[in-house]
Amino acid sequence: MTLDRRNFIKLLGGASSLALAGCASQGGPAVSAGSANEIMAKTGRRVVVIGGGYGGTIAAKYIRMMDKSIEVVLIERNDHFVSCPFSNLYLGGILKDLSPLTIKYDKLAANHGIKVLQAEVTAIDAAAHTVVTSKGTLKYDRLVVSPGVDFRREEVKGYDKAAEEIMPHAWKAGPQTVLLRKQLEAMKDGGTVVMSAPLAPFRCPPGPYERASMIAYYLKQHKPKSKLILLDANPSIVSKGPLFTKGWKKHYDGMIEYRGAKKVTEVDVKNKTVIIEGIEDVKGDVVNLIPPQRAGDIAVAAGLVGDDKRWCPVNADTFESTKHKDIHVIGDASIAGAMPKSGYSANSEAKVCATNIVNALNGKEIVGLSGINTCYSYITDKEAISVAAVYAVKDGKIIAVPNSGGVSPDLNEAEAIYAKSWLNNILTEMSS
Ligand SMILES: Cc1cc2nc3c(=O)[nH]c(=O)nc-3n(C[C@H](O)[C@H](O)[C@H](O)COP(=O)(O)OP(=O)(O)OC[C@H]3O[C@@H](n4cnc5c(N)ncnc54)[C@H](O)[C@@H]3O)c2cc1C
Repeated sequence: MTLDRRNFIKLLGGASSLALAGCASQGGPAVSAGSANEIMAKTGRRVVVIGGGYGGTIAAKYIRMMDKSIEVVLIERNDHFVSCPFSNLYLGGILKDLSPLTIKYDKLAANHGIKVLQAEVTAIDAAAHTVVTSKGTLKYDRLVVSPGVDFRREEVKGYDKAAEEIMPHAWKAGPQTVLLRKQLEAMKDGGTVVMSAPLAPFRCPPGPYERASMIAYYLKQHKPKSKLILLDANPSIVSKGPLFTKGWKKHYDGMIEYRGAKKVTEVDVKNKTVIIEGIEDVKGDVVNLIPPQRAGDIAVAAGLVGDDKRWCPVNADTFESTKHKDIHVIGDASIAGAMPKSGYSANSEAKVCATNIVNALNGKEIVGLSGINTCYSYITDKEAISVAAVYAVKDGKIIAVPNSGGVSPDLNEAEAIYAKSWLNNILTEMSS
């Protein structure tokens, strides 16, 4: 039995009841009770959180759970959030739409007294301790920045905003994911899908390889004469390599062509062609270009990135920026040592960051980081693989605790069941 939407919703239980019907839409009404003016007015000690995704929701919630006397304002540009985890299953045709992956903020706000402001953050003034938004300016005592990633488009000539409507990245779940699936559905049997993965580090190290698996799953069911070429800028598969290779051989032999050390540096949108370092052209009927990444625009604009101008250096225990005092950066945007850029890492970082913000505001000692991550990847609708680790701080850097984790012994059905349970738990935690 494939995991159709009904079964999936059953498995997701609580989280699915929080889902939105029209998940791919953007914008909509403001998400909090109370006007923007009421939210702007600072009444006491206040933490402002930018980004209502994997990191931001959890930081906001845990600060309020630990100390109700601290006011928390969560600022998010959209009135809902669509999870990237499991969005590859939608591309595989296993999920019929993105509604099981979509959360709103109403319950989170009501249950914890979080003020949610739907607005775009346009600037941060670290000296004045203010955040400028499309709806006004807010003061903070501490700021948490969890904006996820944006793209280094300048490294792929021709890949502008218009190009992504023809060659979707689908690396932020929502309309881009829907567009890529529509393109797969419209492709003729016998067509070629070209995917490109950027050099690490990027959001979700196993993500491109899970995506290749899920697209191949879709092709095998619906367009079996087609093939997928994965052009990887990295010399070899970045995460769970032997297991992906085994899964592809078992299920998609001859359908997935993996090519390492192939860095896409230019696109010819009109001809649906990607160009590898000026020397090789690869044409596709569908092109999924995953661009190189960096911290979200607002983190760059606020001067939170390091010398590389990409990622934000932070204290390994508190996630306080080493560039600006009283600002903490968590999730994909931060440099978190050995912790991968994953939703689970962002969740784990948010909790230790929240604890240390509450401790700092109450004059208490900081606590050391104990982090955790597991990343599941589907190979088919039934079989998945995983990688897990526990993290600690050593000599000021986040390291994986030796022998604390590892990869799953093989592809298996139990991992697919654990993965669904993981998604259910984490989306429920973020939205209630
Ligand atoms: C295909 C795919 C599959 C994945 N699978 C997994 C998986 O199985 N497991 C896993 O753990 N991780 C997975 N990930 C990674 C995971 O999605 C990210 O690591 C996680 O979302 C990072 O959390 P974050 O809080 O840093 O950013 P996000 O979750 O992206 O949240 C950022 C939020 O900030 C908002 N924002 C940004 N800038 C502004 C602004 N200026 N004003 C207002 N709002 C703003 C955005 O709208 C967004 O809602 C996957 C990623 C992809 C692409």
